[in-house]
Amino acid sequence: MIIKPDSVEKRLIGKILEKIENTSFNLESMELTYASERQLVEHYKNLKNREFFRDLIKYMLSGPIIVLRVSGDNAIDELHKLAGNTDPNLAQPETIRGNLSVYGGDKMHNFIHTSDSKQNAINELNIWFDEDRPCNL
Ligand code: GDP
Repeated sequence: MIIKPDSVEKRLIGKILEKIENTSFNLESMELTYASERQLVEHYKNLKNREFFRDLIKYMLSGPIIVLRVSGDNAIDELHKLAGNTDPNLAQPETIRGNLSVYGGDKMHNFIHTSDSKQNAINELNIWFDEDRPCNL
């Protein structure tokens, strides 16, 4: 998972961590860091032909982020569901994005990222965490 720059700026880190801790999943690693353009281009490579790609990279470079490794049975699907609709204004209130929409949020500034498949989770963990700890889910 990634807590995106808008969440850090709006001081929503604690609220998001609380929602993760309210699940049965376990936090394995967590780091506050600044993304590099290289990491983001790799992370979002499936979106590189979309018209909003440059805006997305700029948004993710606009401040610190928190990268998280979370484990548990079916964690990928469950956490992706917990994140909610890409647009917080359309997300269900019980999801993270829906619940935090009172603090703003739109299709672009949507508080968090979660992996959407096992293969993407493996790729993303290898982008954001130490190369000497490769991830094989
Ligand atoms: P996600 O799985 O819900 O994060 O959605 P996607 O994988 O489709 O998109 C990745 C990220 O790109 C989203 O979380 C948004 O931050 C951003 N994004 C998606 N759609 C748009 C759009 O239409 N415009 C802009 N500016 N950003 C978008």
